[in-house]
Amino acid sequence: MNRVFNFFAGPSTMPLPVLEKIQKDFVEYPGIGMSLMETSHRSKTYDEIHNSAISNIKELLEIPDNFHVMFLGGGATLQFTMVPMNLVGEKKGIDMTLTGAWAKKALADARKVGEPRIVYDGAGDNFTTLPEANSMDLDPNAAYVHVTSNETIGGVQWKEWPDTGNVPLVADMSSDILSRRLPMEKFGLVYAGAQKNLAPAGVTLVIIRDDVLASCRGDLPAYLGYKTHAPKNSLYNTPPVFPIYAIKLVTDHVKEIGGMDEMERRAQQRADAIYGAMDDSNGFYRCPVDPKVRSLMNIVWRLPTEELEKKFIAAATEDGMVGLKGHRDVGGCRASVYNAMPVEGALHLAQFMADFAAKNG
Ligand SMILES: *Cc1c(COP(=O)(O)O)cnc(C)c1O
Repeated sequence: MNRVFNFFAGPSTMPLPVLEKIQKDFVEYPGIGMSLMETSHRSKTYDEIHNSAISNIKELLEIPDNFHVMFLGGGATLQFTMVPMNLVGEKKGIDMTLTGAWAKKALADARKVGEPRIVYDGAGDNFTTLPEANSMDLDPNAAYVHVTSNETIGGVQWKEWPDTGNVPLVADMSSDILSRRLPMEKFGLVYAGAQKNLAPAGVTLVIIRDDVLASCRGDLPAYLGYKTHAPKNSLYNTPPVFPIYAIKLVTDHVKEIGGMDEMERRAQQRADAIYGAMDDSNGFYRCPVDPKVRSLMNIVWRLPTEELEKKFIAAATEDGMVGLKGHRDVGGCRASVYNAMPVEGALHLAQFMADFAAKNG
């Protein structure tokens, strides 16, 4: 087998045992004589998969009973619109944290629906740091507070969560869902596109608290309303069956390998290896991000020149590590080390970084 270490930011690497299981059952899913891709979303077989994906997510993230877990379409990007459409009512204010490229997109859509106020603006620091969780001046009458738990492009990650009192805290967790435990009681709504940490592209996880759901608008076009999907267990219309099946397999796999303890341990180990290689390089590699908020998922760094960056990325590709080029807006290098990246992949990259610095430093 010639599988590479895939450091792409998304879609991204999947656990090999999951890919193999999908392959094994792809043409003829056990017991139904057809592929799961061909079967009804109202069938008993699919129903079990759907509910088991939901119960695995609830179990792993220790989601209390007063939350609904939904699977929707449209990516995290549709949530940039659905969240304000559903949550903005008489209260029009939205407290938004501007922490990087994804927060910016969430803000742009929120502006079209409500009246966002920027309660933290990271632009002055080039989005390389985050505020202390409870240092922001929040509006007790806002419809909600929005954070991006991990900025996929800039490489900053919230380590603590703001206490928002009675105002629902909403978080875009597209790039770090299921990599760490969450104090769910602090959140009103969490959303995440699946294609970084959970499954292939095509499904978005939305977790919503009952009281927030109850306060949502009920007069939206059907697909856009959380009140359409939640009572129907995300089966109002045809859900993205295949990616949801992949979520079931990925979460089964996570449970098998040791649950959230193991996910947290692996994330820390991967990140320690790569940041360690930077810190040990005598300044050859420079991480622009404030050490207090360095992401464990998207690790960004620069080399002394753009020429060396090109050489580094080309040599790494030769060595079986792909996707290390930084986002086009920021340049440099980026290693996306999501849940399914084996620790071995991060160790391999760290060793490669040390060797490259020794040769080119
Ligand atoms: C990738 C990403 C998105 C966009 O997700 P889509 O599913 O492509 O819409 C939004 N927010 C964050 C933090 C992301 O990493």
